[in-house]
Amino acid sequence: MKKLMVIILLIGAASYATAQNQSSSYPVYSGKDLGLTYSPTAATFKIWAPTATAAKLNLYKSDMGGNAIRSINLSKGENGVWYITVTENLKNSYYTFQVHIGNAWSEEVVDPYAKACGTNGLRAQVIDLKETNPIGWAGDKSPNFSSANKQTDAIIYELHVRDASIHTSSGIKNKGKYLGLAEVGTKNSAGLTTGLSHIKELGVTHVHLLPFYDYNSVDETKSEVQYNWGYDPVNYNIPEGSYSTNPADGKVRIKELKELIKTMHSNGLRIIMDVVYNHTALTKNANFNILVPDYYYRKRADGSFSDASSCGNETASDNAMFQKFMIESVVYWVNEYHIDGFRFDLMGIHDIETMNLISDTLRKIKPSIVLYGEGWTSSSSPLPDEKRALKRNAAQLNGIAVFSDDMRDGIKGSVFNINDRGFATGQIENSESVKFGIVAAGKHPQINYSKVNYSKEPYTASPAGLINYADCHDNNILWDKIELSFKDASVAERTKMHELAYAIVLTAQGASFLHAGTEFLRTKNGVENSFDKGDIVNSINWDLKTQNNASYTFIKSLIQIRRAHPAFRMQTAQQIAAHLNFEKNLPTGIIAYTINGAAVGDRWKEIWVAYNGKQTPQTISLPKGTWKVGLSSKGSSKSANNYTLAGSSAVILYGE
Ligand code: CA
Repeated sequence: MKKLMVIILLIGAASYATAQNQSSSYPVYSGKDLGLTYSPTAATFKIWAPTATAAKLNLYKSDMGGNAIRSINLSKGENGVWYITVTENLKNSYYTFQVHIGNAWSEEVVDPYAKACGTNGLRAQVIDLKETNPIGWAGDKSPNFSSANKQTDAIIYELHVRDASIHTSSGIKNKGKYLGLAEVGTKNSAGLTTGLSHIKELGVTHVHLLPFYDYNSVDETKSEVQYNWGYDPVNYNIPEGSYSTNPADGKVRIKELKELIKTMHSNGLRIIMDVVYNHTALTKNANFNILVPDYYYRKRADGSFSDASSCGNETASDNAMFQKFMIESVVYWVNEYHIDGFRFDLMGIHDIETMNLISDTLRKIKPSIVLYGEGWTSSSSPLPDEKRALKRNAAQLNGIAVFSDDMRDGIKGSVFNINDRGFATGQIENSESVKFGIVAAGKHPQINYSKVNYSKEPYTASPAGLINYADCHDNNILWDKIELSFKDASVAERTKMHELAYAIVLTAQGASFLHAGTEFLRTKNGVENSFDKGDIVNSINWDLKTQNNASYTFIKSLIQIRRAHPAFRMQTAQQIAAHLNFEKNLPTGIIAYTINGAAVGDRWKEIWVAYNGKQTPQTISLPKGTWKVGLSSKGSSKSANNYTLAGSSAVILYGE
């Protein structure tokens, strides 16, 4: 989601502590059975609403409109739980709850623990989850991936479900749907692969899908004409309906999403879910807040909702029952949907303890899980900085990586200043920020931290703690950023800069991350924040793959090299400090380094990497040895003991 600014909060901590003491007076329910427990002979409903004096269940025939068939009072259980068991087969009926708080009944709400719902998530649905499994689901298996804590092996491809297929050039039938992304063998007009087959061909390890839990902003009855990224959660444990072929029947979206996941898995791809537990789309009328007013959110001293998300509220992961909700939610997605990783939006809003509990819990279930998040907030939070999962606290996170904005902006210039340039666009003063990214924001004897753009000290404990990237869904896509900040440059020059940017990302230590389509110079026509700007801006034009095939081939080759060579995916900061050595006495605008491949088990015994941030060619002398070319930008050449790097170019040499 959009990062507006990072503010260090000093005031308000004392009053927040008072509010927390009040929250701790709520009972905590530790059972794992909140929500619906279904069988053909009985359905048990449990909600947590400790401040309610009564609660009732409303049963409906349809997902929208009409009156309730029945309303049934719930019984009061322990620790704030209300429950009822209905001893009949309620399969396929829809339901809501109401709670009586103060002197009034609340409006109807969907239980946050619900697992299925009808159109627009207005009513939950009783379903038999077993009926949502596509053929072959029992045999669905995630492709092999490194064992625990080797996140550096991940090459992540960030994609929006609808963007992948909606453009006419996709050759995909089920446009905009889960099933569209599940189509294989699809092609553009030139016969080049599109959609899932393209991603497989590109060679990434993980597909990170922008939010696909049930979100608020697209009316599921009008999904042909509406668009949103989906960073506005309603039902966390239910897939979004607008990507399904029938949002009214809760089983359909579940089955179609599982079909997509199964197809990804069988094509060697793992799936990462973008999750937004940091805020809810609605505030006062959010499901959480109706059931237990104020409990799930942080408040300011004056009683108003604090808003570190800049979306109207921020959740309180430091409150026991929201921490429990987050943990059970991610576990549910892994167990029921076979999800392989999570990207936590505005992770800096969540407390460190909760994030580490999530990591520890998930790694017990799936040791190869990939976890990362945004180590910042959008505005200030009342929870003290030292407790939150901010980038500067990254070393305290167990196996959860943070995005490197230092590297991102070091490569291309600040995302907040349209004219600003980075190392790849000729602003060679950003070299140290790029070097900091190359060593995965860890401790390295050759980094001058005082010259790094944002962080003045290392913040990761290991390279597994960092995601290196040049662009993502937020802010201008790389191609547009280059164009907007360097209007004088020709298309050919900008293409070289773009390729250099990705050469840096894909050779750097830490995990790599690409925004979908950027491998063939995708553009959003200069639109900076396209979250609701529709298909015209956001859709992936697959004909660009034909037009910019040389860039695509270059980036694909970088991915192949990265996957084949552990030297680019070292596992400890100590290895990087010992075996990655920056060359000294270089012309300005050159970053060059050697990696002792032999020391980290690479068949390339010695590796030499260089980037030329200047637009003019530069010649540098090579270290002693016999060098072969692993990959080189166009126009660069080797002669005897020298290497001439074309302007805005990269090269990888190796000795065997
Ligand atoms: Ca929705």
